[in-house]
Amino acid sequence: MTVHRDHSLKSFNTFGVEARAAHFATAENLDTLKSLLQTFSKDSITILGGGSNILLTQDLPGLTLHIGLKGISIVEEDDLQVLLEVQAGEQWHDLVLFCLDHNYGGIENLALIPGQVGTAPIQNIGAYGVEIKDVLDSCVGLHKTSLDLKTFDLEDCAFGYRDSVFKQSLKGQYLITSVRLRLRKKNHVLKTNYGAIAQVLKDDGITDPNIQDVAKAVIDIRQSKLPDPKQLGNSGSFFKNPVIAQNQFDDFRVQQPAAPFFEMGQGYYKIPAGWLIEQAGFKGYRQGDAGVHEHQALVLVNHGTATGQEIWALAQNIQQRIKEVFGITLEPEVNLF
Ligand SMILES: Cc1cc2nc3c(=O)[nH]c(=O)nc-3n(C[C@H](O)[C@H](O)[C@H](O)COP(=O)(O)OP(=O)(O)OC[C@H]3O[C@@H](n4cnc5c(N)ncnc54)[C@H](O)[C@@H]3O)c2cc1C
Repeated sequence: MTVHRDHSLKSFNTFGVEARAAHFATAENLDTLKSLLQTFSKDSITILGGGSNILLTQDLPGLTLHIGLKGISIVEEDDLQVLLEVQAGEQWHDLVLFCLDHNYGGIENLALIPGQVGTAPIQNIGAYGVEIKDVLDSCVGLHKTSLDLKTFDLEDCAFGYRDSVFKQSLKGQYLITSVRLRLRKKNHVLKTNYGAIAQVLKDDGITDPNIQDVAKAVIDIRQSKLPDPKQLGNSGSFFKNPVIAQNQFDDFRVQQPAAPFFEMGQGYYKIPAGWLIEQAGFKGYRQGDAGVHEHQALVLVNHGTATGQEIWALAQNIQQRIKEVFGITLEPEVNLF
């Protein structure tokens, strides 16, 4: 294991912003992870997966610990389902492709989400009507101080919309080392009602889709809508879709009768953040090289040489304006460092 000093993180974050790690190492096994966690103080360690949900606004002191644990194995299976154990450093989309190859159903709607498998439970990744919580059996976390391994079952993870216990009461305490997913081998339950999936399948003349068809539709839609970070730096959705309570929703609807919304039950409503940002006139807006994507207002982009500070300044500008115009608070989905 090599610990690099003063290491550039530009190619380790999908925004492609420059920031330097005082120390940088990739841990490819549990022993290395433990030894690094013992060497550096807990508070000076930043865990880095695929860097697709972070904005680096400064150089990172201490150790940037890149997760390199690999492996996919079958824990148990029967005719109907399979329980897979996947190490944290596997790429999420590679796992989706593996499952499609083996006809394991359940995560086809989550195709093409960047990042690592170990990070997926942290914000309960989701797309096109499916979240990882729908298939997660459990995950294992390494406590950063005691170095004890703990298994978290579905209930322990306290999943919510882009949320889990790892972003709340256990924030920063555990490093996820592996994830177990329960997937179907047959009788697949397809979710095609969300977004344009059904339309794409129809356009392709597919009347009896399988999981491979659904994944292909999702990939086609995502490629047509979202900028590829390799071409235009970004971290996907920069903000969460705000959830507001009945009273606030009633006032909002009077002022914005045309606004789209999703009823979440129990008197709560989710408003698409992209719509708010677009209505406020930010679509395609630029502050230097920091910008709002021309087709997807929820995606902030780096047009070239923007710094993390500049992108964050743009994000704050948007937050302030949305608060002024709609009285709604936008919270970042990306993790700020
Ligand atoms: C083009 C694009 C599209 C996207 N689309 C979606 C989408 O549809 N749905 C969605 O939910 N997300 C989406 N995202 C966001 C992102 O892909 C996910 O949040 C992903 O799970 C982040 O994984 P990562 O490994 O890159 O995390 P990183 O950015 O490396 O880390 C994110 C956070 O998790 C911490 N962390 C990383 N690994 C671990 C670990 N093993 N244990 C503990 N903490 C850890 C980091 O310290 C950081 O705080 C998109 C991003 C991009 C760039």
